[in-house]
Amino acid sequence: MKLITVIVPCYNEQEVLPLFYQEITRVAGEMSEYQFEFLFVDDGSRDRTLELAKELAEKDQRVKYISFSRNFGKEAAMYAGLSQSSGDYVAIMDADLQDPPAMLPRMVQAIEKEGYDSVATRRVTRKGEPPIRSFFARRFYKLMHRISKTEIVDGARDYRLMTRQFVDSLLELGEYNRFSKGLFGWVGYRTKWLEFENVERAAGETKWSFWKLLLYSFEGIVAFSEAPLALSAVMGVLFCLLAAIFIVFVVVRTLMFGDPVAGWPSLICVILLIGGIQLFCIGILGEYLAKTYLEVKKRPIYICKETNLPKSRQPETEAHSQLG
Ligand code: UDP
Ligand code: MG
Repeated sequence: MKLITVIVPCYNEQEVLPLFYQEITRVAGEMSEYQFEFLFVDDGSRDRTLELAKELAEKDQRVKYISFSRNFGKEAAMYAGLSQSSGDYVAIMDADLQDPPAMLPRMVQAIEKEGYDSVATRRVTRKGEPPIRSFFARRFYKLMHRISKTEIVDGARDYRLMTRQFVDSLLELGEYNRFSKGLFGWVGYRTKWLEFENVERAAGETKWSFWKLLLYSFEGIVAFSEAPLALSAVMGVLFCLLAAIFIVFVVVRTLMFGDPVAGWPSLICVILLIGGIQLFCIGILGEYLAKTYLEVKKRPIYICKETNLPKSRQPETEAHSQLG
């Protein structure tokens, strides 16, 4: 019998956790030819999420949990889940029922019958989302499409089913700055895309502020594209050329007409413009350098405070690093 691990990152999800559990067990009940393991990753929640997970684990042996020492972010939660998963197939699913568990049978079928290595999902609508957020999300995907070789699909969710081989490949990418939407594409393999209409959160509220999403998109750009660096280099060359032409012009003009002191305001404008561009380029460089710095420190991606996983599957030390 094949085992399916369902990874559920949870951050302050006390309202939806019971609903989610109800729905996933219903779906699991319909798929009686598979064994299930529900791996709740509590990402340092401050509400009753962990207690609820523990209560579920007492009633149901299939429920496992990992609890972080603080909030490490959804990327870390997904990584922890993947690295602790033992299933032949592994699914990642949000706790808020925005990733309909009912799609699972179709996903398993695509892997088993159609020979795909992973089945991913994308929303075709962004109904119920603030318009500004949708607008910037669209812009982000357009931009990524142009500046990155890795395919990052518009509307893609983190909701996916993967084979063991796919998961093992993902785990080999032990980077600290994780941008899963890119990592999934980077490892390759054959992926089937299923589309669905946006579903609104069952209860509770979103954990992503606009600001958090904006910073996350920068992470994606820096992790999967060197285009901003190239842009600053090209700008540098362009301005050198311009300066060269201008120098010739000024020298010739001075030789022919002498040097009446004038043009002070325009000089200031040029200095300001070039100064601004320089700072902008240094900023870009700084972004990459900062990421390199974080990567070089080799800090663990997450710290596990408590878990009910059997000893053999637990990290050697509680504060654990997959990187070292
Ligand atoms: N999440 C998490 N850590 C965080 C933020 C979110 O584990 O720091 C989880 C959250 O519990 C949920 C999933 O990631 O299961 C998606 O979050 P949310 O529904 O808030 O995002 P949205 O669907 O609005 O993009
Ligand atoms: Mg959600």
